[in-house]
Amino acid sequence: MAADRRSVTVIGLGPMGQAMAGAYLDQGYEVTVWNRTAARADALVARGATLAPGVAEALAANELVILSLTDYAAMYAVLEPAAAALAGRVLVNLSSDTPEKARAAARWAAGHGAVQLTGGVTVPPSGIGRPESATFYSGPRAVFDAHRPVLEVVTGRTDYRGEDPGLAALYYQIGMVMFWTSMLGYWQALALAEANGLPASEILPHATETAQSLPGFFAFYAERIDAGRHQGDVDRLAMGLASVEHVLHTNADAGVDTALPATVVELFRRGVQAGHGGDSFSSLLELMKKGGEG
Ligand code: NDP
Repeated sequence: MAADRRSVTVIGLGPMGQAMAGAYLDQGYEVTVWNRTAARADALVARGATLAPGVAEALAANELVILSLTDYAAMYAVLEPAAAALAGRVLVNLSSDTPEKARAAARWAAGHGAVQLTGGVTVPPSGIGRPESATFYSGPRAVFDAHRPVLEVVTGRTDYRGEDPGLAALYYQIGMVMFWTSMLGYWQALALAEANGLPASEILPHATETAQSLPGFFAFYAERIDAGRHQGDVDRLAMGLASVEHVLHTNADAGVDTALPATVVELFRRGVQAGHGGDSFSSLLELMKKGGEG
């Protein structure tokens, strides 16, 4: 079986696909690669990878095929012309997209006699090939188990979430909504700091300490939220609204962009208007769950 042959195909050679193919080469795998822009394979070929002349040949070379493409639309663009070569393949799709698109792609693959394992890689290219890095997987358990040692080359930790092919994409997106908004919060903080003559290096310890305080809040509120409790005993949304207005005004006074803090104020205001002023600011979650109508 493929897990014993130490041989894989990697389709898609952006920074991630290149790092993945490189990790397999480092581990002594036979690696077949294909990329729309062939020149991106040059460095890998110099290290011993085989550049397939076409997608069909890349698919034919191995049972296990790693896909690292921008999104699922790119996957269809690449694989549809070679769909006849899909039968019997295990497509490990490490391209990010929505859970629904991952589910539809799994059905599409099955229609061509292939199996999809969905993956959500939680590290940048520099984390590929490292034992401490992690990837979410979902799809058929038996297929995941059979190929697990090969998948552990990409990231040492393989976090299998279940049979539903959308689950890995869902876990990935849950992380990404936090990542993007947190990083935007950091950019906003730096814009405010720099407008006041404070460089990023000076803010770093304070920013780090603030970020490190968050897991404590996550744990405290997770317990209450799972119990359906939003009582305002330690914080109240009305207090929160005053606080985020101070944030908005501080940024406005500094002359920096206020789109992000204004959106935060708007959310808090909606919560107060919905009658949650005396509840914890975790009650905003109820608003968010209802698509903003709560
Ligand atoms: P890139 O977008 O840089 O690479 C995309 C790859 O997709 C390239 O090989 C590109 O080919 C190919 N591609 C895109 N559109 C098409 C198309 N229409 N037809 C054929 N090929 C196409 O992505 P990354 O390598 O950075 O990431 C790959 C995946 O991993 C993405 O889904 C990303 O969200 C995810 N990811 C990335 C992380 C990161 O830090 N980079 C972290 C975690 C996940 P070509 O070379 O010809 O342009």
